[in-house]
Amino acid sequence: MSGLSGKPVAKAMAQSLVSVVVVFVIIVVAFVTIAASMPSLSLGQPLYDPKSPHMRTLADTNFTDRVYNDESVARRVQVIQFYNSWCGHCISFAPTFKELAKQLHEWRDVLTVGVVDCAQDMNTKLCRNMDINVYPTLKLYWFAPKPEDKGVELIADERSTDGLQKGIIKWIVENWVKGVPREWPDLMPVSALSKDLFVKLLPIEKGVPVVLVVESEKSSIGQQIILDLSAYQSSVTVLRMLDTSDALLNQMLPKNIKSYKLPLLLTIDNTDYVFKIFQTPDIPDNRIRDVYVKRIKSKFMSQSLVIDEQNGHDVQQLSPNKQPEDSSVAKIQNNLESPATGQRVYMSDLNNALRYSLFQEIALKKRLNTTQINALKNYLSALELHFPFQTNKMLTFVKYLNEWLAKKRAGVEVDVEDMITTMKIYEEYYHFPEMKPWKGCAGSDPKYRGYPCSMWTLFHTLTVNEYKNTLRTQKWSTLHSVLYSMRDYIKNFFGCSYCAQHFQEMAKELESTLTYPNSSVLWLWRSHNRVNKRLHGDASEDPQHQKQQYPPRDECPECYDTGGQFVEKNVLEFLLRHYSVDNIIKDESELKEDNEIQNNVINNKAITSGKSVSGITNNDNNNNNRNTSLKAKWNYSLLNNMDYSLILFLYFSSAAIILLICVYLKVIRRKRGQKYSSLKSSFA
Ligand SMILES: Cc1cc2nc3c(=O)[nH]c(=O)nc-3n(C[C@H](O)[C@H](O)[C@H](O)COP(=O)(O)OP(=O)(O)OC[C@H]3O[C@@H](n4cnc5c(N)ncnc54)[C@H](O)[C@@H]3O)c2cc1C
Repeated sequence: MSGLSGKPVAKAMAQSLVSVVVVFVIIVVAFVTIAASMPSLSLGQPLYDPKSPHMRTLADTNFTDRVYNDESVARRVQVIQFYNSWCGHCISFAPTFKELAKQLHEWRDVLTVGVVDCAQDMNTKLCRNMDINVYPTLKLYWFAPKPEDKGVELIADERSTDGLQKGIIKWIVENWVKGVPREWPDLMPVSALSKDLFVKLLPIEKGVPVVLVVESEKSSIGQQIILDLSAYQSSVTVLRMLDTSDALLNQMLPKNIKSYKLPLLLTIDNTDYVFKIFQTPDIPDNRIRDVYVKRIKSKFMSQSLVIDEQNGHDVQQLSPNKQPEDSSVAKIQNNLESPATGQRVYMSDLNNALRYSLFQEIALKKRLNTTQINALKNYLSALELHFPFQTNKMLTFVKYLNEWLAKKRAGVEVDVEDMITTMKIYEEYYHFPEMKPWKGCAGSDPKYRGYPCSMWTLFHTLTVNEYKNTLRTQKWSTLHSVLYSMRDYIKNFFGCSYCAQHFQEMAKELESTLTYPNSSVLWLWRSHNRVNKRLHGDASEDPQHQKQQYPPRDECPECYDTGGQFVEKNVLEFLLRHYSVDNIIKDESELKEDNEIQNNVINNKAITSGKSVSGITNNDNNNNNRNTSLKAKWNYSLLNNMDYSLILFLYFSSAAIILLICVYLKVIRRKRGQKYSSLKSSFA
């Protein structure tokens, strides 16, 4: 009997199992899809394709594993670019760096290339620890780096691929005395007292042909050629000799050679050690390296190897002008944007500017010295006085942060980690909006516009508000302080250091220019237009938002006279209108969340005593207790989209497991019941 009932039971169990597995798979797929489709609110788009075969994309999450603990790169120098995806100079530099990485791929036995985007929230700590203050910063890590090794900044005469390669070679050669891995090619010049002694030094016995590049001490083409061919050391050995060994060179060269042009390429016959000049037609200096490498390859490497190499590169390489592919997340983010309009100013853009500047840009510093503390305090004061805060909470946050800084002892540096911890605690009490998708500052591609656009917008808004507030309050003594605070913020913290330098140049004239109440508004407008003019046509320019003199005629026809010149009086009126509080489109989501928080405060009557934080009292009108704040925070920032997906996933998977257990128990029970009834019937 039991033998008969076993089959249906097993079938039922199998069916239940299959349905549970199907449900489980559906949940997993749904989870992955939800997570993948969440719009990223990070700033800009990484400038480099994470799938590029020529460079590794590094981040805080994998830096230790991939830079310090990765066996596959332990015997190589690492060249790592720390960049900022919104910085115009980083955008302009990207094609050069891609080309450099492609060329350095030939040096892959000696070095690897990596990139870190410091604009990504998750990388702030890493970039701070690596002491990155300027973007882009190229760092070199000697082989087998220790975790405390922060790399050395690459010094190059020029930021061309050639200039950067020379800088890298110079640094490697300077460090050569520390010892190098056996498999690296020899970059040091070879020399000997006579040709016979010289020949003895050559690794000819290996049966590998030897090529000699003779060049002047200042030239590094020989070293570049050696590295270009370093991946083919089993086919050809390239050595470098300096032309200073005149006597030796005369012994080597064929008798009929009276004059020669450097760098000179010599081949050595393995049997009779006769040196032959590698004849090359007259070639321009900037082509010598390429031509020599090609000639050596075609003479000494089997044709199939050369073709394979070329094919491989053709398939893999990114053309220098090809932009990295849009990630799906970036595409989604772009699609989510409402069409950008230059006519209005968006509160969410202004909030983004504040959030990024306080939580990420300043957070990149390790410590703040007195000048930086003062710059930050002035920035916060300008915000306190003239930022059109949508809610009191943000204002309170800024105020308390300013007070926290003011309480610091004079002359003592501020530890930025400390400051961030304080900001995070304040954030729990006083809401500070998370990053939102860009609106007025949205670019046609995530790598354009964004943060720098929002900073201009922020400071135009502040100067206009300062002007209006001063007219209203008649407090003339603090007029123009916004511009000084902007100058100092940009100088001390702005992530694009080249931009900061240019801005400082312009700001030198501030003292002599700010003579009228409206001078700040007009000075910033004029200066911004100078920057627009300089950047028109630059690689960082969004093709769909070209830099033009502002305001354009279609936005303000009355701003132009018949000769096409600006009428400053009308421009001023336009700016006062455009950057006025009334023209700012509110961030509805913040208003909604604010109401929710307010409701929570009203509903939650039980006031428990919260943790005491300097500058925060439990009597504060908006924030009666810590529990309420934390509960409110749950609504907007404690969990991100990924967390919600994870919770959903865990919820459904535990439900599925419980279901599985129930089915299993039910089947067991049924099986036992059948057994019991068959026993009963057999007794009967
Ligand atoms: C202080 C500062 C200095 C910079 N210096 C450099 C630099 O040297 N090199 C570099 O590559 N990048 C620099 N940048 C970045 C660059 O200026 C742009 O911000 C960036 O390229 C994004 O451009 P955008 O098209 O969004 O317009 P942005 O120039 O950022 O302008 C933002 C918005 O401001 C409005 N606007 C434009 N012009 C004016 C004006 N004259 N007056 C009032 N409102 C105006 C428009 O509505 C525009 O959409 C700097 C940024 C800042 C904040």
